[in-house]
Amino acid sequence: LLTDHPWPDLGLETSIFERAGIRLVAGPEIAGTAAEVERLVAECSPAAILTCWAPVSRAAIELPADLRIVARLGVGLDNIDVAAATERGAWVTNVPDYCVAEVSDHALAFVLDRCRGISRLNDAVKASGWNSDASGLLRLSEQVVGILGYGRIGRETARKFKAMGCQVLAYDPYFSPDESVASGSTLATIASECDVIVIHVPLLPETTGLIDEAFLRATGRKPLIVNVSRGPIVSNQGLIAALENGWIRGACLDVIDGEPAPSPEIIAHPLVTATPHIAYASDASMAELRRRACEEVVRVLSG
Ligand code: NAD
Repeated sequence: LLTDHPWPDLGLETSIFERAGIRLVAGPEIAGTAAEVERLVAECSPAAILTCWAPVSRAAIELPADLRIVARLGVGLDNIDVAAATERGAWVTNVPDYCVAEVSDHALAFVLDRCRGISRLNDAVKASGWNSDASGLLRLSEQVVGILGYGRIGRETARKFKAMGCQVLAYDPYFSPDESVASGSTLATIASECDVIVIHVPLLPETTGLIDEAFLRATGRKPLIVNVSRGPIVSNQGLIAALENGWIRGACLDVIDGEPAPSPEIIAHPLVTATPHIAYASDASMAELRRRACEEVVRVLSG
């Protein structure tokens, strides 16, 4: 059972399951309700549930006579009652790394865009013709880049900035940065020594508001703040204060606290570049996500 999906067709899923002799039952195109999932799953046995966002409740997990797996088309497992699945002895799987390339590319693209003024100059050329204004253009390789959260995506972002000739610092209290980035960095050294600060920490109670007014006030080199992780890691009120007081050069935000209706004051600010929580996406990442989630189902149903 595919509980819900946003795709125009299910050719990819159908071909993977047909080859394995698995019948696909598909739910609504957009997130189904818990009741719909429960109704559809009752038809399936042995059952495998593939889900994007629809709630996979304890009832849905307990209904099929033989449930083998709940596979999430994504990273987080918040829509799945993992405890109920575990009690039934069913596998719960996710695809934690399908968009490492895309999110790290997005961070690099934001910074390159700012250093070379691509979006600003494109807007100006279209609005008022072939007039050049080179103010604020920077040499990327001279930027000192600080990475907050040296996990799957943080490491790949670090590798890409290193390849562009930048000095890279990383801060992660749980993983020691390897020798390719400067070691011994703290949150305070990232604030004081970096021209670009890229946020790759997960949203946790301890990281909510990690980038607040105090952090932004303590920055030493008017950094560019890049958030491609989760909005609430950056305090909106702190960000507005930093933009208004000139503590930072600007902000590049794929995620903003309050999305999908983020503060117009932030979106409209001339020093903010924003994209609508899209860093994960590409044709390749979506195809990889769908293929790998289906393969987990095939692996489990075929023993
Ligand atoms: P990951 O778990 O591999 O890495 C996160 C790292 O952050 C870990 O190494 C962890 O030790 C570290 N960390 C935890 N608390 C910290 C703290 N207080 N200070 C510094 N580091 C800390 O996760 P990942 O795959 O690299 O993804 C990172 C985040 O990116 C995800 O949690 C998600 O919120 C976000 N994300 C965004 C998009 C998007 O489209 N914008 C897509 C995928 C992931």
